[in-house]
Amino acid sequence: MTATDPTSTTADTVLEVEDLTVQFPTDEGLVQAVRGVSYQLRRGEVLGIVGESGSGKSVTSLAVMGLLPRSARVSGSVRFQGTELLGATDRELSRVRGQGISMVFQDPMTSLNPVYTVGDQITETILAHNDITKQAAHKRAVELLETVHIPNPQQRAKAYPHELSGGMRQRVVIAIAMANQPDVIIADEPTTALDVTVQAQILEALKTAQDETGAAMILITHDLGVIAGQADRVQVMYAGKIVESGTADEVFYEPRMPYTLGLLGSLPRLDVKTERLTPIGGSPPSVVNMPPGCPFSPRCPLAADICDAEEPPLEPGPDSQHLAACHFSYRVEGHEPRDLFRPASDDPIPAAVTEGEARE
Ligand code: ADP
Ligand code: MG
Repeated sequence: MTATDPTSTTADTVLEVEDLTVQFPTDEGLVQAVRGVSYQLRRGEVLGIVGESGSGKSVTSLAVMGLLPRSARVSGSVRFQGTELLGATDRELSRVRGQGISMVFQDPMTSLNPVYTVGDQITETILAHNDITKQAAHKRAVELLETVHIPNPQQRAKAYPHELSGGMRQRVVIAIAMANQPDVIIADEPTTALDVTVQAQILEALKTAQDETGAAMILITHDLGVIAGQADRVQVMYAGKIVESGTADEVFYEPRMPYTLGLLGSLPRLDVKTERLTPIGGSPPSVVNMPPGCPFSPRCPLAADICDAEEPPLEPGPDSQHLAACHFSYRVEGHEPRDLFRPASDDPIPAAVTEGEARE
């Protein structure tokens, strides 16, 4: 973790996304999937991106990779090592995808070909970008399988994807993702389809891949628990925007956006046995024909008139680079989830919600 300003570009920045907007024209209207997302990724760091389903996490990453469907309207800027990727040719993009940025998706079968052995698939990936013999590439493929902790890698290299468990397949995808020493690995819900015990192993394999390659990693999940202990910095997304951004400690221990506090309250904690979960009521808004105001307002315990009138910008607190998009972030500071959100039962409205009203 460095003390440098996370919003300023430095020589250390590998990926820079600026005011990225993605819209999809549909029969129901314009889907505003991503609404002005900006961030920098520094060499070697782990950036966690978290938010409920539909908040724009995947579309943001697909835009970075140039993998959006043709119908998408994209604006803004995505620079990888200083080179603009939006509007780049397929040829330029496929070079970046092979060696610069690699992706791990939720379902490993989307990345694997069912008719080739996993060893052959890793070997092909290596051969596509390196001038070495097939034999040397195969040897490297087996080493990679070992690196991601696949037992009997020599033997397993001969297996077809369907002969492996979901967790083993995801390890193979991670081996492919690290095969050409990328500068950035984007893992989009890499553990969501897997059992809890396997999840931890996959996160460990990703960490190993990141350590071995020195790549920066974007770890995307709907589950704050997945990035706890993994991410250096965390960005929270809601309705196509980043609504909170800071170091992992800032976001986990001093959240400034009620939505983040709500996500924390939905998370089972091992350290507090008696704590009851306080889930956020309701569900995320539709991003078609959005009304003005803060999209979280209908679910927010602190919402007031201004929240329905004006969407708050993402702004730093008084003296930090910890950003939040909330008219009342000062009322979130210092509170536990249960101070604002109700447990799943019909308990009375938490006092902190009514107390703060005098300050409006
Ligand atoms: P997340 O990954 O955070 O769950 P996504 O980035 O996949 O969310 O989706 C963001 C929004 O964009 C959602 O409302 C989703 O329905 C919409 N969306 C994604 N892809 C398309 C598409 N090809 N056409 C229309 N809408 C889309
Ligand atoms: Mg997604």
